Amino acid sequence: MTAHIPWPLLPELVDMRCPEDGSDMVIRNGRFGPFLASVDYPKTTYVINLDKKGGIKYPVPPPLLTELACPKWEAPLNLRRGKRGPWLGCSRFPKCRGRQAWSSIDEAEQAVLERELEAHEQKHPVPVITHRDGKVTPEGTPVVALVIPGGVAELEVHPEAVAELGGGEGDGGLVRGNGPGFRPSAARNDCPRRRSGP
Ligand SMILES: [Zn+2]
Repeated sequence: MTAHIPWPLLPELVDMRCPEDGSDMVIRNGRFGPFLASVDYPKTTYVINLDKKGGIKYPVPPPLLTELACPKWEAPLNLRRGKRGPWLGCSRFPKCRGRQAWSSIDEAEQAVLERELEAHEQKHPVPVITHRDGKVTPEGTPVVALVIPGGVAELEVHPEAVAELGGGEGDGGLVRGNGPGFRPSAARNDCPRRRSGP
């Protein structure tokens, strides 16, 4: 059953460690749906995307731009490594969905592209995705299983916003809670009920 998951407005803490800055991670909502980001996002830009089922998606290196032309437009093709080997897709995706079959490339050219792809992957290593204890998080782990109950991250108010509020005094813009870095999400309504009766 695919249920719509009503993500709370406040960033909920998950049992994941940001591979870029080592901070705790929270669920955030973006234009394309929920994703995981460091509590220091957007200062820390690293994000972990979720698949259609809300599972952890492993990061992939950026595609390698080739000199091969897309069969549909004149745009160059991107080379990526998929689960079933390298594949070529238009660099204008999603505007153009042109593809070229890897098998249609002659073997000598395939070998050259393979070497270039390997060098490219070494230049863009992908981090290991882990829980907060450092254990590797399997790909596809549902994010709902990673949510820390009652864990809503205290996000610092931007220093400039604090200044606008009149001076950065007191607690420095943090929302006070009853635990370090946490505050119970009492206001959270994660189970909206249907109105019963008229
Ligand atoms: Zn194209």
